[in-house]
This record gives sequence, structure tokens and C-alpha cells, in this order.
Amino acid sequence: AASAQPGASPQRAAFYAGYDLDAEAALVEDLLSRMTLDEKLGQLTQYTGQWAVTGPAVPETGEDEIRAGRVGSFLNVYGADYTRRAQEVAVEESRLGIPLLIGYDVVHGFRTVFPVPLAETASWNLDAAEMAARIAAREAAASGINWTFAPMVDIARDGRWGRIVEGAGEDPFLGSRFAEARVRGFQGHTLPGLASDSTVVATAKHFAGYGFAEGGRDYNTTDFSERTLREVVLPPFYAAVEAGAQTLMSAFNEIGGVPATASEHLYGDILRDEWGFDGFVIADYTAVRELMWHGIAADSAEAGRRALSAGVDMSMVDGIYARNLPALVESGDLPMAVVDEAVRRVLRVKRRAGLFEDPYRYSDAEREARTLLADAHRAAARDVARQSVVLLKNDGDVLPLRRDLPTLAVIGALAADSTSAMGSWAGAGRWTETTPILPALRAALPNTDVRYAPGYPVVRGTFLEMVDLALSMDTSGHAEAVRLAAEADAVVLVLGEHRELTGEAASRASTELPGAQLELARRVIEAAGDTPVAVVLTNGRPLALADLDAIAPSILEVWHLGTEMGPAVADVLLGYHNPGGKLPVTFPAATGQEPIYYNRKRTGRPHDVPYASDKYVSRYLDVPVEPLYPFGHGLSYTTFAYAEPTLSATEIGIDGSVEVSVDVTNTGDRAGVEVVQLYVHDEERSTTPPVQELKGFERVELAPGETRTVTFTLAPDDLLFWGMDVPAWTVEPGWFTVMVGGSSLDAMSRTARFELTD
Ligand code: BGC
Repeated sequence: AASAQPGASPQRAAFYAGYDLDAEAALVEDLLSRMTLDEKLGQLTQYTGQWAVTGPAVPETGEDEIRAGRVGSFLNVYGADYTRRAQEVAVEESRLGIPLLIGYDVVHGFRTVFPVPLAETASWNLDAAEMAARIAAREAAASGINWTFAPMVDIARDGRWGRIVEGAGEDPFLGSRFAEARVRGFQGHTLPGLASDSTVVATAKHFAGYGFAEGGRDYNTTDFSERTLREVVLPPFYAAVEAGAQTLMSAFNEIGGVPATASEHLYGDILRDEWGFDGFVIADYTAVRELMWHGIAADSAEAGRRALSAGVDMSMVDGIYARNLPALVESGDLPMAVVDEAVRRVLRVKRRAGLFEDPYRYSDAEREARTLLADAHRAAARDVARQSVVLLKNDGDVLPLRRDLPTLAVIGALAADSTSAMGSWAGAGRWTETTPILPALRAALPNTDVRYAPGYPVVRGTFLEMVDLALSMDTSGHAEAVRLAAEADAVVLVLGEHRELTGEAASRASTELPGAQLELARRVIEAAGDTPVAVVLTNGRPLALADLDAIAPSILEVWHLGTEMGPAVADVLLGYHNPGGKLPVTFPAATGQEPIYYNRKRTGRPHDVPYASDKYVSRYLDVPVEPLYPFGHGLSYTTFAYAEPTLSATEIGIDGSVEVSVDVTNTGDRAGVEVVQLYVHDEERSTTPPVQELKGFERVELAPGETRTVTFTLAPDDLLFWGMDVPAWTVEPGWFTVMVGGSSLDAMSRTARFELTD
């Protein structure tokens, strides 16, 4: 039995290669030896720039704090001029001249907005994700930002949770690969390379388990086993750390009675002791103060003591470390050694970002002007957006649409909504620079009479007014939509979620189409008769679509795609781009199926195999057990055929490996991309195995008629699970089923077996 973490590799050594750790330690120890307690706690304190930055220069109060060495970092500020001034005060006017970390949520782009992360993951294209992160870093770095609070790597199995939009979906393997790609995109491939003008420090967040909120309600309690923590929640964080992520962010949730932000198990035992992480941990927003609301700290000082002692090195916005911890250190209730260790970690990352060498590298007005929204960045955003589109359904080949349509009806207010096109956490993106679907279709079809009806309310106002409008049952726009549909030669019906229905604090109890959109779809599809209707879904979570699926011949999932959303969607609708995206999350038939995920366990009473009773089986009486669209699903304008998989061996030893090969053929008449997926099932072991687990994938582009052999290698290290006796990774001898196909469900019917021997 092996005891290593899955995926353990020489990766991190390669990331650190060429970096002078001794010189770093010398600088850090020298500074530490000269710091007062206030200066130390200042380094552990991040304030929001919103109070400080309203004008072009740093207001006096902010400057005074920096000058006194009481601030280690700011968040929510950017702009080359402002950040340069703040660094000047820190470097030239504070006693020790320690530069500032300047953090911002550069999540899926900065000024050029890329697809929301869930969408981008639907590309299954790691190079695209890395490139998108690099472009975001390059733009942000020119604006003075040297640290991004991304990637979010929380596994999420419940579509009700609004923040599912920010991550890579439900699967730990796919999530781990995207975590690495995004970390490398933001930070570069080596530590010496992090000190550059096109990279920023990355943050893997939220450590840990935030995506398991009960009922999908944001910030809610989580409670899951150590086994789920190890096998499902942590792998993407480990992958991020292996790829060199220099910071992690704590999480708002509690896990089984311990708030994550006070968890010695997470930050001590696992992150530092097991994984050897030497960067630092930032608290999420007011998470330190919130330890009082969780009920484990009577006052701010105790909240601060618990968080810092657990290993949360920097507090965000609440100022508790700077304000409330000095007294505890002086009274001996908080050892100075704990403070010193946290300061070391923060100073290390500042040096690694190159801030001691050139504090102004990140604030360059000339570069800022040249870099933000550069043409090449927009082009890249359009390309990634097209790859993120998933064709869920295309009965009767409704898509692609003809390019010589006399008239086209575009229905749905979201078609004209550039704010929603940018999606949640849109960085410094501007709606005025974003092209939604309607104007892009008009531009792409200069000879077509493109008519538009909003169909459902246009959303504007305060946050709560917007939510009301986005969920409104108002049907007053239906008649006009029906009239256009009846007259047009084709209909593009845009449905889905306004961006305010997605993201943080945007959980939904129902994940069906909001408001009266389903009713609108019924009326429009009926009025259209034989006229082709392409339903385009723009949303940030897996929606429950059984009712829509029953009436819509064709459904294209386009999510929120960013600055170039409209042109990308037009490219796909009109067949200039053949969609090849695959779902990174299971789409349920009904909300009540949530949480639903493909790598589930069997029950002792499965619904889908013969059982002694036809009553006492695991199912719902009112909705099916099966999802509507499985994980990994996505169609193309062409078709692909898979041969049966072959194995290089049917028996391997603990040091061996097996090659799984499959021939995939493009059987249609256009070129297309297929994401070939490999799943494994451990047939029997000492803890219950998932029905299937993704272990490999490859995107292949095939010309019409072309066949490609795709080969995956599986070794025992790929088969590890969190064992029974010792808390350790292990693999047991026995039989394994491999499955290959174009979705998790499709793969179930294409299997081969091998045995792992002692
Ligand atoms: C979110 C974090 C984010 C932080 C700073 C918090 O509310 O949970 O993901 O990085 O705000 O904006």
C-alpha cells in the first residue's frame, strides 16, 4: 500500500528550481529581527482600499497607516498611478521599507473578461485556461495588482450554490487539472518567473469545503467525513500547491463543528505538516471576526488568536490582528513565535513576487494603457468563449442556423444584456466594452432582418430590485415575442440567469428557469411551428431543465462568456465554429435531485439493478434518479464513433501500468473536437468505491472521416483512495473496470477490465 498523496510529483521541486531560498531566508530573518510587534502584526493585516482610494492619490489617513508600518496589504484597489503612490509610501517612507501586496479578485479576466470559470472548464482545454489566466495576470499586473484571489478550486456538487459558477465544477480530477493550469497561468511555471510583469501571485480558495454548504445556501454549515475531505475536497488544493500556488484563502464555512478559519487540522496538520506548504494563508473577508458569530470566540481578540494560531496568517479587512493581538502577545496568551512564523510566510511571498527587487514593476501607467483590452486579448477571449459552449441537444439539426435567413427573431432580454454577459466577478471589465448576443448577430447577418423582443423584464436597479426583476413572473412581454416568432424564418430564444442570480450570496432554492421563462418558451415554440427554434441558455449554474427539454428541439449552453460573448455565440449559432464543450457539472432533471454528481456511490438498494423488492429501492417517487444531461456530455455539429477500448495488459503489479487505447472516428461531414474521457471503477475494496471516476481526458480534433487512437496510461498511483485502517492513501489488489466515451454516461457502455495483483 502506498501512502503518498495522489499526484505527488517532483513538480514542486521543478517550480522552486533556480530560486535562492537561502538569500530569501537571510532577508526575511534580518527584517524580522528589526521589527516591532506592531510592524509584525501590520504585515499580517490587509485593508480594503475602498475606504482609502476614492481619488487619484492615497488619502492622508491611508498614507499614515502605511507609513507607520501598520498595513501589509490592500485589496480592491488598482490603477498604476494609485498603486505606485501607495508603494512609494511603503517603500520610501515607512521605517523598514517593506513593500505592499496588492490583491484583487482577478477571477476570469481583468479588463478583458474571459468566460466564467465554470464555462471555461467546459472547454476541457487546459492550455486555454492557462492562457486566459496569463492574460488576466498581464493586464492586472500593469494596473498595480501583484496578487489575485483566484483560482477558486472548490468542488461543488449542488447547483443551488451560486458560487458553483466560480469553480471547475464537481469533479476532483478535472478540478485538479484546471487548478494547476490556472495557477501556472497566473504565476508562471517557475518561482524565479513569478517576479515578472506578466504574472501575479495566485490564491487557491476557499480552504476548505466551502462548496459543500448544506442545501446549497451560501455560507451555510458543512459536515462531511475525513474521507470526503481527502478524496473529493482537497485534491484540487493539493494540485494548486504542487503547481506552486503561493497563497491559500480560508473558507467561511464550519466543518463538523470547527469553522474552517480556525481549523488546525486544515492549516496545520494537512497544509503545512503533510504538504509542506511554505506560502501563506489569507482569511476570507471578515472570516476572522465571524468566528464570534460561529460561537467559538467571545471577542475579537479570541477570534484573532484562534485564527492566527490555526495558521491563518493574514486577516482581511477586519483589522483584528493589528488591533486586538498586541495585548495577547504582551500577556503571553499568544506566543511571539506564532506571530513570527506568520510574518516569515508573508515576507517570503513578497520577495517571491519580486517586490523587494522592484516594488514598482506592477504599477506602470504606460504598460497599463497598452495592455488593457489589447486586440490580442479580445481575440483570445473570443476563442476561449467559443470553446466553452456546450451543445446540449440538437434534434433535427436545428443548428447551425442558415446564414441567408430573410428574418430572424431574437427573443429574450438576456440577449441584449452586456452586464450579464460579463458574469459574476468581472474584474475591471466594463459593460460598455462587452458585446452581448443581439448586436453580434446583427453584425454577423448584415442581410437579415433581425427583430428583437425582450420577452421577460429587463433587469436594472439596486441589487434587490434586480433580483426581483430577474425572478419576475411578469408575462407582459410574451405577446410581442410570440408575434415575432410566428413571423420569422428562425428564432433564437435566449433564456437563463441574469448575473445577479449567480456568484457569491446568490444561491437559489430552485434551479429551474427563472420567472416566467418556461411559459415564454412554451408560447414561442408553439407559435414558431415548423420554424427552427434555437434555445440559447446563458447562466452560471447547472439548471434543472426537464420541462424545457421536453419542448425544445435544440439547446445550446453558452453560460456567461465575457467581453466577447456575442461574437462567440454568433460564431457557433452560424456554424463558423463547431461546438466541442462538455459539461463539467451534472445537469439535473429537477432541483430536488441536488446534490447530484456522476462519481456517486452505489447504495445497498440500487434502483437500476434487479433487487428483491420493487418498492424498497433508492429513488424518488415523483422524479427520476437519472440526471437530464450527465457530467461530460456535449454534442457537436458532426458525430463521433468509438471503437471498443483495448488494454495493453489485463494484469499489472504494484509497479506496473496499463495502457488503455480507443479509436475515435469523426463520422460526420465537418471537422470537430471531441473530448475523449477515461473513467475507472474499483470493483471491490475495503471502503465503498464510486461508480466511476474520471482519470483522464484528451481533446482531439478530427477531420471528417478521420480516425485517431487515443491512449491513456493508468498506474496504481492513479487508483489510490483514502484507506480504512491507517488514515493514508492506499490501493488494494483486485479488479478494475475502465470505461471510455464521450460523456460519463456514454463511457458506461464501453468497458474493459484489468487486475491489480499483489
Ligand atoms: C469572497 C472571496 C473574495 C473576497 C475578496 C469574499 O467575500 O468569499 O472569494 O476573494 O471576498 O473580494
